[in-house]
Amino acid sequence: MNSLFADLGVSVFETMSRLAQERQAINLGQGFPDDSGPLDVRERAAKAVVEGWNQYPPMLGLPALRAAVADHYLRFQGLTLDPEREVMITSGATEALAGALLALIEPGDEVVLFQPMYDAYLPLVRRAGGVAKFVTLKPPHWTIDDDELEAAFSPHTKVVLFNNPLNPAGAVYGASTLARLARACVEHDVIALCDEVWEHVIFDGLSHAPLMAMEGMRERTVKIGSAGKIFSLTGWKVGFVCAAPAILRSLARAHQFITFTTPPNLQEAVAYGLAKDDAYFVAMRAGLQRSRDRFASGLSERGFTVLPSAGTYFLNIDIAPLGRSDDVAFCRDLVERHGVAAIPVSAFYAEAPIRNVARFCFAKRDATLDAALDRLSDVVAQGRA
Ligand code: PMP
Ligand code: GLN
Repeated sequence: MNSLFADLGVSVFETMSRLAQERQAINLGQGFPDDSGPLDVRERAAKAVVEGWNQYPPMLGLPALRAAVADHYLRFQGLTLDPEREVMITSGATEALAGALLALIEPGDEVVLFQPMYDAYLPLVRRAGGVAKFVTLKPPHWTIDDDELEAAFSPHTKVVLFNNPLNPAGAVYGASTLARLARACVEHDVIALCDEVWEHVIFDGLSHAPLMAMEGMRERTVKIGSAGKIFSLTGWKVGFVCAAPAILRSLARAHQFITFTTPPNLQEAVAYGLAKDDAYFVAMRAGLQRSRDRFASGLSERGFTVLPSAGTYFLNIDIAPLGRSDDVAFCRDLVERHGVAAIPVSAFYAEAPIRNVARFCFAKRDATLDAALDRLSDVVAQGRA
């Protein structure tokens, strides 16, 4: 067996979801909404399954979806993309990440990663032969330190893998951070792999800024998106990759031997969904912001220290004020004794993890959030005892 995978445990999301099920806990761990997603988009997929084409679609994706992705990013982010040469459809952002890392990295190349990082990044980088160099971000603001950023680059750096908005932090990086990152990428001649799956899940009137739009980045950025997050349909696994033609050609070679294609019926429904009126996206965001605020005030009222969240489905608490210094033990107690599953944020670090933050998914119905808050009511008192 390959030692890298043989030595890996089950993902923290799967572990917590299983525990939640065993304990009949309310699952605010793994990030998925209670909501069943927009009916018209699901109906469109159902119709395509029953009446449409169910054989292999083109390897790069349905032309209609590739055009819809280009139109969508022009409408929302001002990007001009050629759908035929600069857009590819993958089976979720995860496949896009895996394919991009396989296609871009030669063994020994260095990859800059920002921790906390999504759990798939490090194993994929290492399996592709990459050597990880970390920049560490800390709560409550998760800002990128200039010196640390500069120190992470070397003449061997090939790729920077940047997640914005950042899961699990809920941080959203704007123009000044993006400009610094862009300068570093240009100066060191590095490709930016941008995981922007949370680009529409952003609050408080903020708007998403793609790194690809920064000076010098158009030809050296791979932008990754996911319909799962845009339509609250996390099981759909329809991802998009956008990159300049020279890069996209290589990514397509990786894609053709990983999944080759993505279900055509889901692609058709996503093409329809991406063209929905602005009102859909505004309402989706407003609904999630309301849930975030409801859950955040419920937690604060119960004595928890809530960290800011400007994007994603996630809200973090600082458990240090509860006298707790081990997030894994805290989350185990939470699910076993209080019946609520959360995710220990140390799971997103490879080196020197912070151990005082726990992540909750608030993309749930009011009744689910309120029931979880009820169960969390006596945690603070017990934590201090
Ligand atoms: N990247 C990040 C940062 C994520 O949070 C997720 C899923 N939550 C993914 C990638 C995976 O996306 P997909 O389900 O489209 O593979
Ligand atoms: N991205 C989801 C989260 O952060 C989990 C996805 C998964 O289970 N792989 O909760």
